[in-house]
Amino acid sequence: MIFHVLTIFPEFFEGPFAHGVVKRAQDAGIVEIRIHNLRDWTSDRHKTVDDRPFGGGEGMVLKPEPIFLAVESIWPVKSAASKVVLLSAQGRVFDQAMANRLSACSELLFICGRYEGVDERVAEHLADEEISIGSYVLSGGELAAAVVIDAVARLLPGVLGNDASAAFESFQDTGHGEGLLDCPHWTRPAEFRGWKAPEVLLNGNHEEVRQFRKRTAVEKTARLRPDLLSEPGPEGSP
Ligand code: SAM
Repeated sequence: MIFHVLTIFPEFFEGPFAHGVVKRAQDAGIVEIRIHNLRDWTSDRHKTVDDRPFGGGEGMVLKPEPIFLAVESIWPVKSAASKVVLLSAQGRVFDQAMANRLSACSELLFICGRYEGVDERVAEHLADEEISIGSYVLSGGELAAAVVIDAVARLLPGVLGNDASAAFESFQDTGHGEGLLDCPHWTRPAEFRGWKAPEVLLNGNHEEVRQFRKRTAVEKTARLRPDLLSEPGPEGSP
């Protein structure tokens, strides 16, 4: 899968994809990440990407021309399995169901906003999706793009050591109930500062371990994310 990122801060991405699962996915050739500098699609001496908002007000807005030109030059012909994603505080809130859906694409192109945001014609006429990573305002779309890429990349076949591991994480079918949080985990030492790991996990009885994990996953979901037990999510996820 190819991820494209359109940004005015290409150096930002030197860090987030240079470690762990996403790095290994790139090394294995399963994932390719191409970072594009938005200023490469400007034509003036100052490489201007922003301008003042019509109607007045604070801050600057990213202009539409360089963004449209960039996307049209990255994808002169756009396939049905490719999607342009605008990162925006005003977008639909990203969740695991969205990550699953996006992981079926062959290429994704992320537009990272800055300043007061992006000229609305990008959302209206260029982006296939406008996605927020949560109900708070970031300074730019770069962190959000890195979050979405990480969540999508780990779902691709062959990226995690064991293909089943993504399926058994929180919000997926954890094996303890679909759409719940994962069960809590413990590791050695069995006792740490007087706090013991649950005895049932040490006794080797697989059925008892399964029952314990199911119960604790439901309990933790009820305690920390009761919303997951009730209302369906925006994409029909529990
Ligand atoms: N004026 C905008 C508003 O109030 O909704 C905020 C603009 S924000 C300072 C600049 C850029 O950061 C946005 O264009 C977007 O690309 C990105 N951004 C901010 N919050 C985000 C979020 N929660 N999810 C995704 N992207 C976000």
